[in-house]
Amino acid sequence: MRAVQYRTIGSEPEVVEVETPEPGPGQIRLRVTAAGLCHSDAFVMSLTEEQYVYGLPLTLGHEGAGVVDALGDGVTGVAVGDSVAVYGPWGCGLCHACARGAENYCPRAAELGIRPPGLGAPGALAEYVIVDDVRHVVPLGDLDPVANVSLTDAGLTPYHAIVSSLDALPAGSTAVVIGAGGLGHVGIQILRAITGATVVALDVNEEKLKLASEVGAHAVLPSDSSAVEAIRSLTDGDGAQAVFDFVGAPPTLDIARKTVAMDGVVQIVGISGGLMPTGFFSTPMGASVRAPYWGTRTELMEVLDLARAGQVHVEVERYSLDEAPAAYRKLHEGTIRGRAVVVPGD
Ligand code: NAD
Ligand code: ZN
Ligand code: ZN
Repeated sequence: MRAVQYRTIGSEPEVVEVETPEPGPGQIRLRVTAAGLCHSDAFVMSLTEEQYVYGLPLTLGHEGAGVVDALGDGVTGVAVGDSVAVYGPWGCGLCHACARGAENYCPRAAELGIRPPGLGAPGALAEYVIVDDVRHVVPLGDLDPVANVSLTDAGLTPYHAIVSSLDALPAGSTAVVIGAGGLGHVGIQILRAITGATVVALDVNEEKLKLASEVGAHAVLPSDSSAVEAIRSLTDGDGAQAVFDFVGAPPTLDIARKTVAMDGVVQIVGISGGLMPTGFFSTPMGASVRAPYWGTRTELMEVLDLARAGQVHVEVERYSLDEAPAAYRKLHEGTIRGRAVVVPGD
């Protein structure tokens, strides 16, 4: 089969021919119908040899959807032909976190060598992908896999961050979204769907600000030093009850720190290596700061339900497997509108 692999540190991913995998006991093979490209892939491919821990070659793609194509011994609960999405942050399945569906916070995954597909295990940027357990697929039903595959990360990750901030976001509150890219443009829609907040979106790119407005942001602002004053004035000086930073770089964390309200919450979702000084005289009294990771199994089901209800959608740029390296280039340049999705069948 063909797969998109990161093979050499510092080089572009390559489309290569590899052996089609066979599902072992308990495993499921999917014929991939769609796979999304995430900025975290660009982050992983920017690491030096010393920092890189994902193994080479790495078949990329941690947002995946497919049709069940072959079942390993003992698999029940899904049938060949079912259309499913892959829940990516695989855990052990047995600990307290996993039992409540929060496999994204499984404390045993690392020690057991369990890695998400595309971030250690072979990912979905291929014609076929192996899912290690039936727990890690969620039925898509009638949802179009190409339009919805990115809900497994670009939807699930903001949903998880927003759900944990719900108490801070009643009617009359303000939520700031920094970075209206893949995650951010879905995050804006989730905020509109499940909170009462006024949503203010920031980006450095005009086109992304336009997209933010189109998907429901009440106000958009350039992400620069003027943003702090602008957000203070939009909120009568109070600041925002929740700030979702989908960039996580020093300048955006500075904006987040200076615009969060007293007793508010900053969710650092972006992985750009920034740190925020936190405590008295740095953050407002009562403010909390959190760096959430991905989301839970039940939250993925909920995000898919929001899509079924027509309350969130992903703006998709569609690519073939052969075009994946070019799509990663565009992602790196910041010119993807919404999410780049690869369709191996194209
Ligand atoms: P993306 O490239 O699709 O979007 C990033 C957006 O940020 C773009 O619109 C870009 O114009 C904007 N941006 C860049 N610099 C900015 C600045 N200084 N101020 C405001 N906006 C700025 O990326 P994505 O796939 O949406 O991922 C966003 C971030 O979230 C990445 O760092 C990614 O690694 C991370 N991520 C984290 C998790 C998690 O579990 N915490 C999960 C997925 C992705
Ligand atoms: Zn991701
Ligand atoms: Zn576990």
